[in-house]
Amino acid sequence: MLLTKGRVRIAIEVQWSRQSQDETARRQSRYASSGVRGLWLFRQPRFDTSEEIPAVRISGNPFDGYDVFVPTGAGEQVLPLSSFISAALNRQYQFGLPLGAAADVEVRCGNLDCWKCGAETQIIIGLDISIGPHKLSATIPDLGNCPDLVRRTLQAIPAQASLGRIMHRNSREAGFRYLSNGCAHCGALIGAHYEYQAWDRQDVVARFPTVVDERMRQLAIDLGDEPGWGVHR
Ligand SMILES: [Zn+2]
Repeated sequence: MLLTKGRVRIAIEVQWSRQSQDETARRQSRYASSGVRGLWLFRQPRFDTSEEIPAVRISGNPFDGYDVFVPTGAGEQVLPLSSFISAALNRQYQFGLPLGAAADVEVRCGNLDCWKCGAETQIIIGLDISIGPHKLSATIPDLGNCPDLVRRTLQAIPAQASLGRIMHRNSREAGFRYLSNGCAHCGALIGAHYEYQAWDRQDVVARFPTVVDERMRQLAIDLGDEPGWGVHR
């Protein structure tokens, strides 16, 4: 079945009988040479996907309808066949982290006692970022190259939070400077390896939407995110 929308040309191949990976690759390159992207819907449970060969599993029957299972690298997404087809035509089915894709950020904060002045202070323990099927968890020291994301995070945190400043500080222990939490009272560095002390007193304090930019893409690579196909908003 060949679907066209604007400049997108997708050949959707529903493959009911088992097909070897070699055969899929051979047929895919034949599509590619005629400027068409092949998209494979397999009934067989096992198949490989790659950036060149997008493939999903299809399951169901004419009476109950069909669902699509999208292998994403880290897990899978399940959605009705019609939703999947429209995502594919609208360029929402993409490999890796597409620039401009919607991302939802949750900010976790927690409390601990400052090692220097002893007062209780709040720190940002981490950001949980959902991008389509991708889930990234980043700590403040991970975010040294993401100033925009840090700014958005600080804007989203309620003003009454007793948060220390988020800034680059020298760590004598680590031997280098990094983006860090600090004590709200005395400004001392709360070192990356001491943040765990706030883990048992933590909460999601803010949520905000954003979009994937180059920095976030790099962050995902740094955090070891598995690239894979997925449906995005
Ligand atoms: Zn302090």
